[in-house]
Parts: sequence; C-alpha cells; structure tokens
Amino acid sequence: MNLQVNNISFSYKNGFPALKNISFHTQAGDMLAIVGQNGSGKSTLLKCLNRILKIKTGSIRLGETPLHSLSPEQLARIIAYIPQTEEYITDLSVFDTVLLGRKPHIRYTPTPQDLETVSRLLTRLELETIAMRPLSTLSGGQRQRVFIARALAQQPQILLLDEPIANLDINHQMKVLKLLQQLADEGMNILLTIHDINMAARFCNNVLMLKQGELFAAGRQSAYTPENIQNLYDIQVDIIRHNDHICIIPQ
Ligand code: ADP
Ligand code: MG
Repeated sequence: MNLQVNNISFSYKNGFPALKNISFHTQAGDMLAIVGQNGSGKSTLLKCLNRILKIKTGSIRLGETPLHSLSPEQLARIIAYIPQTEEYITDLSVFDTVLLGRKPHIRYTPTPQDLETVSRLLTRLELETIAMRPLSTLSGGQRQRVFIARALAQQPQILLLDEPIANLDINHQMKVLKLLQQLADEGMNILLTIHDINMAARFCNNVLMLKQGELFAAGRQSAYTPENIQNLYDIQVDIIRHNDHICIIPQ
C-alpha cells in the first residue's frame, strides 16, 4: 500500500509547531527509518500517520484514499501502530493480548480462523511457550514481541513502530529488525523511528532525517553523509564501510 504524505504540518494545542511542511512517500516493501534528535518530531509524525493526531494542513493518502475519509475500523485494517511505551501493562495473557489485534476484523465473536491467526503469530514470534502468561510478568523483549504480534494480528499493510528496539539488548534488536525486514520483504510497508543510525542504515532501505520538525534530508543509503549526520546530531562523525554495511562512528 502506498503512503503519500504531502506538505503536512502539525502544531500542538500550546501552539508549538512540531512538524513543518513534511512530504515523502513510501510503498509496499519499504522499510523507512525516521531519525533525528530527541524532540525533532518523530513520534508526532507517526501519530499523525495513525490519525491519533489530526493534521491541520497538507494531506495523507493511502493509495488513492485520503486518510481522513476512512472509518476507524477501515484504518485499523490498513495501519497498525506500536507506541514507544505501552502505558498500561495489563494482566491479560499473551494470547488474549494478541487476539485483541483481531478486533477490526471480528464481527461478534472470534472465529476459528481468528484463533488460528493468533496461534500462527505466537509461533512466528516465539511466544507459544508463554501464551498464557500475563503481560505484566514478561521481560521488555518479550513484551515488544507481543505488541508486534498484536499489530500483525490486524493484518495491516502499513506498520508504524515508535522506537521498537529502544529497550532491547543487541541480540533482541537484531531479532526484531530481521523480523521487520522479513515482513517488508513479504510486502508490508514499515515505518519506524530509531536512534541507532547504524541499525537504521543497515536494515532500512530509506531514511527520513527530521530536524526541529523539518525534513532535513531523505533518501537511501546515500543520505548518510558525514555532513548530514553532523548537521542532524551536532556531532562529528567518520563513516566507513564494513562488509557492505556503512558504519557511522562518532569522533
Ligand atoms: P521525538 O519523538 O522526535 O523525540 P516528539 O514528536 O515527541 O519528538 O516531539 C516533538 C516536539 O513536540 C518536542 O519539542 C516536544 O516537546 C513537543 N511536544 C510533544 N508532545 C507535545 C504536547 N502534547 N504538547 C506540546 N508539545 C509537545
Ligand atoms: Mg519520540
């Protein structure tokens, strides 16, 4: 599914302009990293794409359809969103949490197919053995996998993730990023915010660099120039190549 963002701006109620004239587009199979300093507008952008925040100017289109014209259920069947921190960690089981992701597809009660979808996702995310555990008893890495499974249960075409690897050790960071890359290869359109620009450069085929609410630079690997990184983060860096990956090393 194409996502077309045209010249959007967003100000919070106190008047703070968090996004200024942002335009970009992504399509099925893309994995887009949204990077920038703390406070640059990354989370605000994801929330606008998921309509948690309503843009005042500009337009967002999914394929040919304006975002604002979709019902909440229609939207939830196209876009899934995983916030940075889950505010309420419930005592629901892993299984029931993932089943909640089926809600946009369920009419009255879950069908056997819904339960089957949940089981398949529990297997794919290596959650079967803890399917009946309450969420509140899980580690951060396990919870992150549960939230990804719940989002995938929506069978979305576009997946938005706010700092999905922020609290994970490097082993689990790799697992999550490899899974997201697989999903992109299967045709999902993935947008994530991420602080680790080395991981962004390695796993994401596109990048948006935000600076104080403006799109400072965008593109593919070639966007990771020392000048761009220095300007974006106000640090000096060296960039070297290692086994087909670029490595960005602060001086
Ligand atoms: P990031 O995710 O890149 O760290 P955010 O999108 O969370 O940045 O925030 C962008 C800017 O908007 C920041 O300066 C932040 O202080 C401001 N901001 C975020 N939420 C609110 C809010 N509810 N009211 C006013 N300003 C906000
Ligand atoms: Mg944020």
